[in-house]
Amino acid sequence: MRAFVAIDLPEAVTAALARMQSMLPAGRPVAEENLHLTLAFLGDQEETALEALHYELEGIRVQPFALRFSGLGAFGGDRPRILFADVGTEPALIDLHRRVAGALHRAGIVVQHARFHPHVTLARFGTGAAPKTAARLRRFLSDHGDTALPGFAVAGFGLFESVLHPSGARYELLARYALR
Ligand code: ATP
Ligand code: MG
Repeated sequence: MRAFVAIDLPEAVTAALARMQSMLPAGRPVAEENLHLTLAFLGDQEETALEALHYELEGIRVQPFALRFSGLGAFGGDRPRILFADVGTEPALIDLHRRVAGALHRAGIVVQHARFHPHVTLARFGTGAAPKTAARLRRFLSDHGDTALPGFAVAGFGLFESVLHPSGARYELLARYALR
């Protein structure tokens, strides 16, 4: 099954992000209940591999920590594909990410290694926004890019299944891991 490891967000945060989404001039917004911070995307995995990963993730010992947003951004350069809320590079988050990567490795799950840029995806623009849309988006970013968003305490993370539907992905929590 298609799976990923992510930090889910408290209601106050998803509500604030949804207000931001409602002002977007274009794009396909991520459903409010789907907003999350991905730690690792696993792609399609066998259940036995996920069981091994579950065992490893249960062994992670990280103290709860606080996160805050540092503005809005886009991936894709001149042709934005994704608009996101940027999450500052908090050392505890980088540490958690590294431990999750270690757990994946020990579980024998191979993932693509891109630089970890912590973010919450707010909207998607398919294969890339057309020039007119890109210009409206740049305008939106300069008008709203520094709107304050609530910080939050990370108390845990989860292993999720992603079921793709034509109407958008649906996420299913497979297991939750509390920080302590
Ligand atoms: P859809 O693909 O239908 O737009 P989605 O992206 O929310 O929906 P998934 O593609 O299953 O659903 O992705 C689950 C999570 O993993 C999301 O946070 C997504 O951004 C992230 N993700 C997906 N593919 C990759 C990838 N190749 N590299 C890094 N992260 C990815
Ligand atoms: Mg996707």
